[in-house]
Amino acid sequence: MITTIPLLHDNHNHVSLYAAFSSCIDISRLGPEEAWNLLGSLPKERLTVVRGWKSFELPLAGEALASLPPLLLINFSLHGFAVSDAGLPFVEQAVPQVAANRNNQIWCEAHVPAIFAAYCGLAGIDEGKLVSYIDAMVPLGIGSSDEMTVPTQGALDRCLSSAYAERLKLWVAPELYEKVDKPRRAAVAGVKLFLDGAIGARSAAIQGPWIGPGTAMFTYTDEALLELLVTIGGWNTGIALHAIGELAIGQALTALEHAHTRGARFRQIRLEHLQFIDRDQARRAKQLGAILSMQPNFSSDSRDYSDRLPESYLRRNNPFRMLIDEAGFEPGIDLVFGSDGMPDGIAYAATASLFPAHPVQHLSLAELVTGYGPARGVSGTVTLEIDEDTGRVTVIGVKQDDQVPRKPSR
Ligand SMILES: [Zn+2]
Repeated sequence: MITTIPLLHDNHNHVSLYAAFSSCIDISRLGPEEAWNLLGSLPKERLTVVRGWKSFELPLAGEALASLPPLLLINFSLHGFAVSDAGLPFVEQAVPQVAANRNNQIWCEAHVPAIFAAYCGLAGIDEGKLVSYIDAMVPLGIGSSDEMTVPTQGALDRCLSSAYAERLKLWVAPELYEKVDKPRRAAVAGVKLFLDGAIGARSAAIQGPWIGPGTAMFTYTDEALLELLVTIGGWNTGIALHAIGELAIGQALTALEHAHTRGARFRQIRLEHLQFIDRDQARRAKQLGAILSMQPNFSSDSRDYSDRLPESYLRRNNPFRMLIDEAGFEPGIDLVFGSDGMPDGIAYAATASLFPAHPVQHLSLAELVTGYGPARGVSGTVTLEIDEDTGRVTVIGVKQDDQVPRKPSR
């Protein structure tokens, strides 16, 4: 079947980070042997930043890291990285704290924004990279995005002064929010916190047990999170909380409820990912007036991560039917969708929604499109081919409307 939808807005992505990465070598599509050979052939005299490293396919430690040229390898999930022995002096010089803590997983999970800033600094970002990354998303069906963790003040200024500023809704870490002046604070949608790790890094805060190694990682103690939310609740801005496992989701809800009774107010409350949210947590989120920001893409974790998640978790992942039919969340109102850039574009999300691993993950095309919402600052139409036989959705054409040029500001 062929159908047409509007050019969409991605409610969760990492635009400046991926834009910075655009000049990096991406090994995510290579097999382990091919990736290994490529890594060995990289320049010996300078640091190369490599993205898309799948540590579970190509584990690298000890001797392997000692034999490689100067490399910073960034995990596919963005959570986790490795530095080759030869790369260490380069990383130490640029970002000493990140270098010193590179083998400390707890520190790394607790300092995701600092690590994103380091990635961004080492890879470099400019208007050209930003514009071409945003341009490259249009043929995939996406015209604008929430940028969930603007990594540095430099990146924030790039985004704000970009020709595509209208196509970005910006979120920053609390440290960056406190550092910048009033006009910059007013220009961001809010503050983003990471509460737990990721499934790919075996660090999402689930009760478990994991199959094989895995540890629930928390960035904050309950008390520290509450104090931070009370502080942010006085800033007259929005809040977004990354919480994947049910333990992190519970921590977020309890802290928000208590912060609220202590007078904290937010322009918007967003809960990000929520892959293992249950019925009772959904009810509490509804009561708080929170917006659930979720990624249909990650429904396929139920297929991809059967090596680490028990069946009960595979079945509970992304329970969209429960959220919509039982808890009363409405796509586009208090349930919004995005990609996290894994991968970019609407095709993968549409495939995961229409042909999910589990029935509770099913979304109609109308629900998916409403949950993404129309692109901002740009418009157009996207033609999709839905193949019921192969269970795949593909983008077969995108037509961008002519944009009315912005009046030059005086
Ligand atoms: Zn993200």
